[in-house]
Amino acid sequence: MMRVVRHLLAVVCFWIALCGCSHLQRNRDVLFQTSTIGALLEGVYDGHITCKELKKHGDFGIGTFDALDGEMVVLGGKVYQVRADGKAYSPKDSLGTPFAVVTFFEADKSVFLDRCENYIELQQYLDSSLATKNIIYAVRIEGPFDYIKTRSVPKQNKPYPRLVEVVKNQPTFEFHNIRGTIVGFRLPAYMEGINVPGYHLHFITEDRTAGGHLLDCSGRNVNVEVDYTHEFFMALPEHSDFYRADMIEKGTGEVGKVEK
Ligand code: ZN
Repeated sequence: MMRVVRHLLAVVCFWIALCGCSHLQRNRDVLFQTSTIGALLEGVYDGHITCKELKKHGDFGIGTFDALDGEMVVLGGKVYQVRADGKAYSPKDSLGTPFAVVTFFEADKSVFLDRCENYIELQQYLDSSLATKNIIYAVRIEGPFDYIKTRSVPKQNKPYPRLVEVVKNQPTFEFHNIRGTIVGFRLPAYMEGINVPGYHLHFITEDRTAGGHLLDCSGRNVNVEVDYTHEFFMALPEHSDFYRADMIEKGTGEVGKVEK
């Protein structure tokens, strides 16, 4: 009798596991995140998952690399690394990331923007067209753009400085009359500490040779696509730097200083 019960239990467990897996495979509207912005602010820059692993969770997104070696753009299932020279490289699949956010991009809404003078105006326009500020949005904007300004971050050495120190010397790059794609997310204010509240966007040129973390933009006749995302999955690092990091928000507004 016990053997029958045990057998039945095993069948039920297998069935539950199978359902769980197929749910994950079926549901592509999940934001997948590695580590937290709070850890990145504190200088936790060692990668804990590889680009290869990251791509299993999304074909679209942003982040950074092991030792803070540049800005990450994930677009069309490919990972691009915009290093401190402003140029985009194809990193090895084995390269790690200490912080990245990806999803499988499937547009739910498309908006045509006939004119946008700057990044603030772009954010205000997008905000006014969204149904709520309480869910996650993946945002993809195809340009021609009149103007784009980006920054990147240089690779760091241990002991790692805090992020607010690194961005004091961030290289910036300007592009005029450039075709390319803005890639990123709008996250709710309640995700502060976990990620960047509001817009966090990166840019990559159409020929995939340059880009960076978006600081400013203007353009005409740009197509904005938005992917409504209702689920969130966070993978936390299993190393001592993360365990030891003091991630209590100190009210310094550092996220605004390093990401805006
Ligand atoms: Zn960024």
